[in-house]
Amino acid sequence: MSELKPCPFCGGKPARQELEDGGQVIECSSCLASTPIHYDRCENLVSSWNRRSLPEGMALVPRSITAETGHKAGMIGDFHETITLECRHCEGEGCEECHGTGQHRRNIPVSWTTIKAIHRRIVELSEAHQDKEVQPS
Ligand SMILES: [Zn+2]
Ligand SMILES: [Zn+2]
Repeated sequence: MSELKPCPFCGGKPARQELEDGGQVIECSSCLASTPIHYDRCENLVSSWNRRSLPEGMALVPRSITAETGHKAGMIGDFHETITLECRHCEGEGCEECHGTGQHRRNIPVSWTTIKAIHRRIVELSEAHQDKEVQPS
């Protein structure tokens, strides 16, 4: 049997349930999202769950990223932005520090705090969108 993917709505653990009337269903143990009830061809249940587990073009991401989720190690140092500083002791055209431009450009890493804040905002906006478009059944 192939493995069940996590619930698309809450990331919870799905489990196969056998109903009293003989039907079978795969249901999320946290939010109770489920496949349609199958009375025959129960071998299709797993693929039925897995197929619906993520809508096309969607990715499953944790609500917040932390060191524990592996994102800190994976992302820190990945993003930079360029800032421009005035040359503080500028000697004009012949300035050796800034080559006469009056400015220094620095490539600084985006902080982990900022990366987390951006991720949180993406989740917020995605959930607002999902509330409108997709309802757990
Ligand atoms: Zn769920
Ligand atoms: Zn200078």
